[in-house]
Amino acid sequence: MRKALLAATAVVLVSGLSGSLLSEEHAASSVAPTEALDRLKKGNADFLAAKPRGQNLLSQVKETAGGQSPWVAVLSCMDSRVPPELVFQQGIGDLFSVRVAGNVVDVDDLGSLEYAAKAVGVRLLVVMGHTECGAVKGAIDDVKLGNLTELLAKIRTAMSAAGAPGTSKDAAYVDRIAEANVRQTMREIREKSPVIKELLDSGKTGLVGAMYDVQTGKVKILAD
Ligand SMILES: [Zn+2]
Repeated sequence: MRKALLAATAVVLVSGLSGSLLSEEHAASSVAPTEALDRLKKGNADFLAAKPRGQNLLSQVKETAGGQSPWVAVLSCMDSRVPPELVFQQGIGDLFSVRVAGNVVDVDDLGSLEYAAKAVGVRLLVVMGHTECGAVKGAIDDVKLGNLTELLAKIRTAMSAAGAPGTSKDAAYVDRIAEANVRQTMREIREKSPVIKELLDSGKTGLVGAMYDVQTGKVKILAD
């Protein structure tokens, strides 16, 4: 399966890596949004069942040396407990991972997702928050610290839309804000990236939200 996918996308990848990213539009990945989501769900289920994929990372290095063909992009928090490759049991070359505290987006993150979706052609974008998120707690506590202040302000916008105020000691409240923040990031991707909006509107690309539970390791896909 992996080899077939690599072969099918090899030409696209070579041109994508060597040419101008802005001027080229590549064929979309052969992995449809629903299939990509199914792969992630299965990967997390196997992770929870401690069922190793049995992958040989070094052989994956060799397989991907000539070019990459990832089939999903995951925007998630930098939290050390939430590594997407591990919790979805994916290997080298499977996914684009954009990580930033609180899984917010600025122009650089949007540009990265545009590269994944438009230039490379991944057909599923995932915004994944998590429980007990320190960035969310920092936003609730209105922490001020250098450039972090501006980052946390983005999460505070999600707070203001999430109803009655709470405290960072209230785990349920923290997680509710984290989920609201995921949804806000999804909205921002649509609103601030016409490139991605067009792909979403045409159905070529999917966008889903998710929450990772740091207590259980389970990923919950958010309903629309
Ligand atoms: Zn976090």
